Amino acid sequence: MAKKRLVVFTGAGVSAESGISTFRDAGGLWDKYPVMQVASADGFARDPALVHQFYNMRRKELLGVEPNAAHRAIAELEATYDVDVITQNVDNLHERGGSTRVLHLHGELMKVRSLRDESRIYELTEGNLMVDENSRDEYGDGLRPHIVFFQEDVPMFERAIELVRSCDIFLIIGTSLNVYPAAGLLVYPPKIAKIIYIDTNPAKVDWRAGIKVVAGKAAEIAPTIADLLAEE
Ligand code: NAD
Repeated sequence: MAKKRLVVFTGAGVSAESGISTFRDAGGLWDKYPVMQVASADGFARDPALVHQFYNMRRKELLGVEPNAAHRAIAELEATYDVDVITQNVDNLHERGGSTRVLHLHGELMKVRSLRDESRIYELTEGNLMVDENSRDEYGDGLRPHIVFFQEDVPMFERAIELVRSCDIFLIIGTSLNVYPAAGLLVYPPKIAKIIYIDTNPAKVDWRAGIKVVAGKAAEIAPTIADLLAEE
């Protein structure tokens, strides 16, 4: 029998217990740098040095953390389900946790791309993490973070909609459902799909009938995720 299609949609909360601060957590990197300065197209145009510095710091932070029980539990679901992960996160903890199909809606921290040709994307390595306004690729072109800045289109959104439209189960973990268009994905699971939403402080989702909301930390709920999905 064909495996059921499971789409897992994650946000910053799934990585919180790995030690990466969420957007709105006090004390995180995001507090020290106004978001529109470091994560917007205007901010990058105004002060690329500051934006590079911010992402360099985030890369260093990422190297020092590990996937948590939630990332690993999601990867293990591939044994039972046909799984696609759609993440708003720019970290690579789903991949390092073992997930094989991960769509990054908002880009990837460990990649940069050419300012001249956006199809030229470069993967950074542990020994080569730091990028600045003077960095050049082999064509002599400047580089930018491979991040979808605020004020930019989300190029993977159409593909994400397609995946969500075809799911039997939609599992949402650790997102405030505040950042659009990503949060709008909740409109697209088929009516008969089962929807489960895990978050320490879940957003109000009562406009969509039949969502099972589980309040709690992703890594603590992780051992029960398989049972939650199997429940009728
Ligand atoms: P968000 O910060 O708006 O919301 C995080 C959500 O996670 C909140 O609803 C919070 O209640 C929940 N949460 C916190 N700790 C949790 C835990 N241990 N278990 C389960 N849930 C927990 O994040 P968002 O919805 O992903 O949107 C913010 C934007 O910021 C996204 O665009 C994302 O790209 C970016 N961002 C990414 C990272 C990352 O890559 N790890 C980190 C911070 C922000």
